[in-house]
Amino acid sequence: MFEALRALPADPILKLMVQCRNDPNPLKVDLGVGVYKNEQGHTPIMAAVREAEQKMLSSQTSKVYIGPAGSELFNHHIAGLLLGYDHPTIKDNRLVSAQTPGGCGALRVAAELINRSAPSATMWVSDPTWANHVPTFSAAGLTTATYPYYDNAAKEIRFDSMLATLEEAKEGDIVLLHGCCHNPCGADLNQQQWQTIADLLLRKNLIPFIDIAYQGLGDGLDEDAYGLRLLANQLPEMIIASSCSKNFGLYRERTGAVMVISASADASKVTASNLMNVIRSNYSMPPAHGASIVETILDDSSLTQMWKQELNDVCVRINDMRARLSQQIAATGCQTDFSFIPKQKGMFSFLGVTPEQVHQLRDDYSIYMVDSSRISIAGLNPHNIDYVAEAISSVVK
Ligand code: PMP
Repeated sequence: MFEALRALPADPILKLMVQCRNDPNPLKVDLGVGVYKNEQGHTPIMAAVREAEQKMLSSQTSKVYIGPAGSELFNHHIAGLLLGYDHPTIKDNRLVSAQTPGGCGALRVAAELINRSAPSATMWVSDPTWANHVPTFSAAGLTTATYPYYDNAAKEIRFDSMLATLEEAKEGDIVLLHGCCHNPCGADLNQQQWQTIADLLLRKNLIPFIDIAYQGLGDGLDEDAYGLRLLANQLPEMIIASSCSKNFGLYRERTGAVMVISASADASKVTASNLMNVIRSNYSMPPAHGASIVETILDDSSLTQMWKQELNDVCVRINDMRARLSQQIAATGCQTDFSFIPKQKGMFSFLGVTPEQVHQLRDDYSIYMVDSSRISIAGLNPHNIDYVAEAISSVVK
């Protein structure tokens, strides 16, 4: 029965990871994969996570099922981190949350809910966007379209074109926005642009869908939630997909949350029943471990403090690497301007070099990045940054 299937090409990032792993050059640098790495090039377990796990080990008494919505305590704390603990949508019973298997699980569940409620709605995503968005939404049966977002030549957001395209969206369409730390381009909307978008969405009756996978890795936890909170305060309906993979370093524990804000408490009850039904018919219930870690941290003030400090260190290191890469390239006398890198946020930026130059960096210097020249900033560290800066400078001239 599987004769009808055709082999598919390997995922370019996974292929790149293997290539890098097999490269014997001791100077090799992996700027491909989107995971945080510390100064030693290692993806550590956060100390707060370790402590929480120890605490859980001695206190957990059962492995019984946790239900389609997952842990209530986890959902309470994630809503608090994203919206603020006393947000009116929480008090007014307009918010429904469910713990999901990672941010990917949240995106898929939300897409299925949208397809159930509004099958003819178009899901608008930024051009460019994270490589898994369109496949996830399409697999759930949604139609997608793109709005212009990043100008590769000018290294800035194509805001006017973005607005002009969204003017063409039809009532009830969904607009996917990256909450912070845009993946892949690192260029985020400023406060005024968020307000302009909010006005447009409200006027045209479009529904915002915020994907927030990097809260705390841009400017800080509250600062990174600015746009999301602004929309939640001004619009009647909204969808949020969040992830704890990066800000808690829980990648393989598959920990995330989907949240839906409805226009009224009554509507929210209906949304909740459908959301649970989508989950039940999909993976039934989320895994518990990662969410238990997160709620153990966020329910304990000293563990929360410890986690916030560690997350802040991550954020500072990323921003430091951004500044140093730009400075070091300039210090080589390079004529190409890379001063946009420190202005961008989070794990990624496009270097803005050609695919040929990407291949040259790989073949001649063992520096690995995807063909689009998206680099994972956390792959840089004090030991390799001069080498990377010189290599970039020599290929772009
Ligand atoms: N959205 C974006 C923009 C991402 O970059 C990621 C992770 N790479 C996710 C969602 C989902 O992450 P996960 O499923 O690992 O939590």
